[in-house]
Amino acid sequence: MKIGVLSVQGAVTEHIRHLERCGVGAVAVKNRESLNGISGLIIPGGESTTIGKLIETFGLADLIRERNRQGSLAVFGTCAGMVLIARDIIDGIKGQPKLGLMDITVQRNAFGRQKESFETEVEFKSFDAPLTAVFIRAPIIEKASPEVEPLANMPEGIVAARQGNLLATSFHPELTDDLRVHQYFIRMCK
Ligand code: GLN
Repeated sequence: MKIGVLSVQGAVTEHIRHLERCGVGAVAVKNRESLNGISGLIIPGGESTTIGKLIETFGLADLIRERNRQGSLAVFGTCAGMVLIARDIIDGIKGQPKLGLMDITVQRNAFGRQKESFETEVEFKSFDAPLTAVFIRAPIIEKASPEVEPLANMPEGIVAARQGNLLATSFHPELTDDLRVHQYFIRMCK
């Protein structure tokens, strides 16, 4: 099985290394051809406005949407990636490009200035021990439809959730040595 990491901007190499450590083939996705033959795609953190514009320019956005809706491509958005897969974005720039796949409303930069980046322990549904979660100018899920299953919560809102073949985390699971979130996504790709 091969899983892609969208490689137009942002925290790419750490995701590739985590996938390899989980024993799956990792593919850097930069163009439409590299989407062939992968069963999952990680959209990394970075700047959601930039990543959004680049995937439109490279003709990737339509193909990702189409394959996800057909059920042949699971998608995992971390941080900016979560903003990109959300149906609605609060505090996006005007006309912010998005994939709009998951029935969630996401607030960008939800933790304010003092708390721009921090790490904390979160309980992640079905994991037997808490997870250290790294937040960097992170978004939060403000609203989710009943089809969305929250997987981790903080007092501020939902920080991890799943809807069918879509997974989203506010935090960066590629920045710790813990492989459990990537393993969770790999199971969704099978
Ligand atoms: N604040 C960024 C955005 O909304 C996300 C930050 C990140 O991915 N670390 O695009």
